[in-house]
Amino acid sequence: MANTTAAVVVVGSLHYDIFVEAPHRPAPGETVTGMRWFPKFGGKGGNQAVATAQQDICTLMVSAVGNDGFAEFLLAGLQTGGVDTAHVSRAKDVGTGMSVAISDASGDYGAVIVSGSNLMIDPQQLEVPELWDGATHLILQNEIREETNLVAARAARSRDVTVCLNAAPWRPMSDEFLSLVDILVVNAIEAEAMCGVDVNDLDTAQKAAAALSQRFAYVVVTAGGDGVAFASDADKFAVPGEKVEVISTHGAGDCFIGTLVARLAAGDGFSRALELANRAAARHVSTY
Ligand code: ADP
Repeated sequence: MANTTAAVVVVGSLHYDIFVEAPHRPAPGETVTGMRWFPKFGGKGGNQAVATAQQDICTLMVSAVGNDGFAEFLLAGLQTGGVDTAHVSRAKDVGTGMSVAISDASGDYGAVIVSGSNLMIDPQQLEVPELWDGATHLILQNEIREETNLVAARAARSRDVTVCLNAAPWRPMSDEFLSLVDILVVNAIEAEAMCGVDVNDLDTAQKAAAALSQRFAYVVVTAGGDGVAFASDADKFAVPGEKVEVISTHGAGDCFIGTLVARLAAGDGFSRALELANRAAARHVSTY
């Protein structure tokens, strides 16, 4: 059970992931013999919702699954993770969103996603008043339609709910939508796309965070194993990465964001919330 009255709403994707472990990722035209594969609960939205709920924060997911057996797997994954699924709809005539990820011996991965039902989230799902009862934070990502993100951000802002955008994967976004974002969380690739700074260590992550803080109230730039940089008008600091043995970096950013927003919803400041999120994400990369 959640231990505070704060609630986090996550609007986003659910993917049935097929996760493949291989010695290396295939070059164009190459067939690689992998070691094993397994189905995995996924989608940035779903992963972030589960990470939020793991912090004992009441977490509600808004998404859409398809009319197939993969839908049950994802709903069960949310429920086992402690996430409220009352606002996950079932789209007709479309498959559940899915992805194939290939993880190599170093733990790096490449993935292809097929959005399917994630593009069918009905904006009316965001106008249900009970969804926002007690909500303090909204988390969005870029694996659903921008129109849906825009409606969600407007609904949140009109209720004084803080809007956190994980701009992943990067895509062009409208000024109107970006003007509704309070907290921006981006990795090195997304940071470079948004401000032109090449992020390759903690120093450059701090430069990117400072540049982006001209536009967003709170900016978090994650830099993989190097750690994370934060910038706002009032504060700028970095948290170094934890030294861990890497098993797979798949979903590290999602674990980080869910933990970060959950801790902010629980009342922690950015410094403490980022420290805990950094620790949780490091644990995530070092376990299956
Ligand atoms: P994404 O997964 O979105 O690409 P990053 O690779 O920047 O994002 O990772 C997000 C966070 O996960 C990092 O800020 C860090 O806290 C943690 N993390 C990622 N890779 C490692 C690693 N090799 N060692 C320790 N922590 C890591």
